[in-house]
Amino acid sequence: MADIKVKLEVFDVIIVGAGGAGLASAVQTGLAKLKTAVITEVYPTRSHTVSAQGGIAASLGNMEEDHWIWHMYDTVKGSDYLGDQDAIEEFIKHAPETVYELEHWGVPFSRNENGTIYQRRFGGHTRNYGEAAVQRACAVADRSGHALLHALFERTLRPDIVQYISYYTEYYAAELFRDKETGKAIGILAWDMVNGGFTMFFGQAVIFATGGDTRNYRTGTNAHINTGDGLKLCLKAGVPIEDPEFIQFHPTGIYGVGNLITEGVRGEGGYLLNSLGERFMTKYAPKVMDLASRDVVSRAMATEIREGRGVGPKKDHILLKLDHLGKDLIMSRLPGIWELAYKFVGVDCTKEPIPVQPTAHYHMGGIPTNTKGEVVDWDGKNEVRIPGLYAGGECAAQSVHGANRLGCNSLLDIVVNGKQAGVNAARYILEERPEFPLPPLENIADEYGKETIEQVKAYFDGGPGEIKMDDIWERLRDSMQHKMSVFRIEKDMKEQSKEIDNYFEEFKKVGMTDKSPYFNTELVELLELESLLYVSKVETEAALARQESRGGHFRDDYPERDDVNWHKHTLVRWKDGKVELDYKPVRMKGATAPTFPPKKRVY
Ligand SMILES: Cc1cc2nc3c(=O)[nH]c(=O)nc-3n(C[C@H](O)[C@H](O)[C@H](O)COP(=O)(O)OP(=O)(O)OC[C@H]3O[C@@H](n4cnc5c(N)ncnc54)[C@H](O)[C@@H]3O)c2cc1C
Repeated sequence: MADIKVKLEVFDVIIVGAGGAGLASAVQTGLAKLKTAVITEVYPTRSHTVSAQGGIAASLGNMEEDHWIWHMYDTVKGSDYLGDQDAIEEFIKHAPETVYELEHWGVPFSRNENGTIYQRRFGGHTRNYGEAAVQRACAVADRSGHALLHALFERTLRPDIVQYISYYTEYYAAELFRDKETGKAIGILAWDMVNGGFTMFFGQAVIFATGGDTRNYRTGTNAHINTGDGLKLCLKAGVPIEDPEFIQFHPTGIYGVGNLITEGVRGEGGYLLNSLGERFMTKYAPKVMDLASRDVVSRAMATEIREGRGVGPKKDHILLKLDHLGKDLIMSRLPGIWELAYKFVGVDCTKEPIPVQPTAHYHMGGIPTNTKGEVVDWDGKNEVRIPGLYAGGECAAQSVHGANRLGCNSLLDIVVNGKQAGVNAARYILEERPEFPLPPLENIADEYGKETIEQVKAYFDGGPGEIKMDDIWERLRDSMQHKMSVFRIEKDMKEQSKEIDNYFEEFKKVGMTDKSPYFNTELVELLELESLLYVSKVETEAALARQESRGGHFRDDYPERDDVNWHKHTLVRWKDGKVELDYKPVRMKGATAPTFPPKKRVY
């Protein structure tokens, strides 16, 4: 029998994830002088936030007139009216001060001649309620996430903050602990990836900031770590997932590889062409054309390809033209894009267009939270707080993005809502003074983490397994790509749901060949594959049930939005190995802003 060591650590707060959201939380819990453990699978500055290119949205009005209410309107409309308007108002209002705070923390924003922060146009961001595109995205060339993540990490290293923070880098969170009587979140079980063995982290609050999960698609922009672990941990612990059917396909992934070419290219004046050399977006979005929201542009591209106007021998992609912007502009504002296109497809974009295709990019759905970052369940009438549990960033659904996220609103979301989660977790501990129900230490391993520890022991003790993990992984990615894509139909989704059930069965027959406790990536990948199976299952079931088209969820068999029956959030629970669907209303009333009721969405 494998001898797997289990250690015990006690903190005030446990944060899972050290991307922009996790670090924004950590700054706050550190400032509140709470002992904080930050558990992260990769070194903090390697989190996916580092790869964000385009920028962070805020109505600074540095280049042309802008107002937060226009930004709010765009976000509500972009969400296809599924975003919660109290949450949207809250995070949009905080946008300008957030950008200035980041500037003071050292983010080296690109500048205008007069020294103010440079802002570029971005999809779905408009002036005066949709009149024309507006320059709202604050950018650090095309490496905005890199600058932001480093500034946040450095902030946590400030002496008055870092003394309260312990980084557990290369620790993999594998289970969420909830008190059996009260349901309160009390800890996390994590695998030490470097040395092997588990650590049980107990605390008075747990904050999830585990980021995105689109690694279940064949072509996608997400990093290898974006496997939806936070969502699985919640589902397994009885916490529902909100609106999982809404997955964003970014219009411009590099053809064949998926790497992202920022919308900033179109913000700077680039545009899309079909095989006839037509600028087809004029047809689909006459006012803002290539700067319509992402769901609209991706669908337009997919339609062009479907109708035979795709580019290349297989007529399966589209061209992104930007050479007319000139080498100087490309090299100063989009240097990372030039490099990506050159390295991955050998295209010098100062001379020729980049081949692109819609690519899986962002998950709008996630762990349901209110405006304070508190995780909430739904009892049929009201949102019910799950004590001690918080979430922020891409893994959370507050829901500020509803059915479709606007570009540059995620960096804003992670900083504002990551901060909220940290502030409110601290307030909960310091003001509500929850009782800490740590079970007796001598039999703690009997009460918590048993199932996961047994699962991992079985991998170490067992054989190589009848079925190879990679095999399931590859088939999952292909089937999600084909059956849960930009366009969806009932037959495909039904097949996909059954197929995922088969993958779950096959997963039981998978073993582990590497028996070393040290840096056993096979073990981590096994647990990540399991997460993606959970994520894919809830996405598919929720999509199958939603008989309408809205935002990132488009059904050929129900092509219209149906506000009478479907203007509501999905909640998916995992009960006895089965998916249960529930629904809750959209929060329509902000604190001071007028309500924006659903109307036809044209760009
Ligand atoms: C290529 C690309 C470009 C983008 N460009 C923009 C942009 O210009 N503007 C914009 O607004 N948005 C952009 N986005 C979206 C945005 O960057 C992300 O949504 C956001 O950065 C996510 O931040 P996060 O803190 O939630 O998660 P991440 O930065 O992904 O961090 C997740 C953290 O969780 C940890 N983690 C995950 N699972 C576990 C586990 N089991 N155990 C321990 N730790 C775990 C990881 O180690 C990591 O530290 C882009 C996204 C991509 C992929």
